Amino acid sequence: MTALSLGDIYQARKRLAGRVRQTPLVHSPALSALAGGPVHLKMESHQITGSFKLRGAANAVACLDDAQRQRGVVTASTGNHGRAVAHAARQRGMRAVICLSSLVPQNKIQAVRELGAEVCIHGDSQDDALERATRFVAEEGLVMVPPFDHPDVIAGQGTVGLEILEQLPDAGSVVVPLSGGGLLSGIALAVKSARPAMAVVGVTMEAGCAMHASLQAGHPVQVDETPTLADSLGGGIGLDNRFTFSMVRDLCDRTLLTSESAIAAAVVHMYRQEREVVEGAAAVGAAALMEGAVKDLVSRGPMVLVVSGRNIDMARHMDLLARSASSSS
Ligand SMILES: *Cc1c(COP(=O)(O)O)cnc(C)c1O
Repeated sequence: MTALSLGDIYQARKRLAGRVRQTPLVHSPALSALAGGPVHLKMESHQITGSFKLRGAANAVACLDDAQRQRGVVTASTGNHGRAVAHAARQRGMRAVICLSSLVPQNKIQAVRELGAEVCIHGDSQDDALERATRFVAEEGLVMVPPFDHPDVIAGQGTVGLEILEQLPDAGSVVVPLSGGGLLSGIALAVKSARPAMAVVGVTMEAGCAMHASLQAGHPVQVDETPTLADSLGGGIGLDNRFTFSMVRDLCDRTLLTSESAIAAAVVHMYRQEREVVEGAAAVGAAALMEGAVKDLVSRGPMVLVVSGRNIDMARHMDLLARSASSSS
């Protein structure tokens, strides 16, 4: 049973009006030629804060009552979710605390501070940081905004699905980057409620995807984390996962894995052919398409690839471009 319904996503959209962007959906001639049918890109990389995560974070913040708003929010993410929570809290003049481990590089700490959030450095692992965040909830009454496994977060991410349905009413499939599964759960709930025949495919990296391993095991499992270009797709799904595991299991037609070299090639493609800077996690759909893994989907009608964010380290981005230039000459 799903705790969420399409109505929750419509309510999220009302709450988010004026607070997030409706992102463009653009046709890609190059990827369409490769796929043998129309391919469109849903550019969440153009979202405020550089990723779709603002939708879920801003919806969760909007759902708080006055007393909770007075106390503020806390989370333990260094990446796109932390950025989104900091931005959403500042928009409403609320306190936000982002707990980070001592291993987080200085530039990331600086980026969170620039968004007006308090940074609390604790321990030397993500688990330590999360434990500190949990203590803020117990001791100071801050409200935890989790990165994916929360109904208000999932409903916010689902607004991407509503926009796709409106921007491309005859879409036959949507390909979604997959980690904790908040984005895929929300989009799948939105599109399948309106158009059950539309296929929803999750794509993730070969290197350590907890959701993929959990689906295969039939229950949430932990996996070892390995370095990947798709760094925003790292991390577990929580052994006590409440929502996204069952939603992904029930609503997702298929999950695919992409290699590091395919992700690198896709980031380069997105820059050279589409003229877009995207991070590795956002390029996994293009990577799967370029590897031929989603070719069968074009027979269903126009395909949408969700391009989920653009927050790549720019030195790394330039390095990928330089390497591909030297290998192709
Ligand atoms: C968080 C994130 C994802 C994965 O979203 P989940 O809801 O965890 O599956 C994909 N791409 C980017 C850029 C992200 O920040």
